[in-house]
Amino acid sequence: MARDFYRVKCSECGNEQKIFSHASTKVECLVCSEELATSTGGKAEVNGEIAEELKAE
Ligand SMILES: [Zn+2]
Repeated sequence: MARDFYRVKCSECGNEQKIFSHASTKVECLVCSEELATSTGGKAEVNGEIAEELKAE
């Protein structure tokens, strides 16, 4: 399984945060606690804007 990361921009405060593409728990913005991604059991559902996809080697 590819271990990709997303750089996600928070729609509330603009903070950019790196999240795991298959996050097993929901991910909150470290600045404003907006939910950035929701766990689906597979690929996480990203709620913010994906600024960049970071591919793992
Ligand atoms: Zn935020």
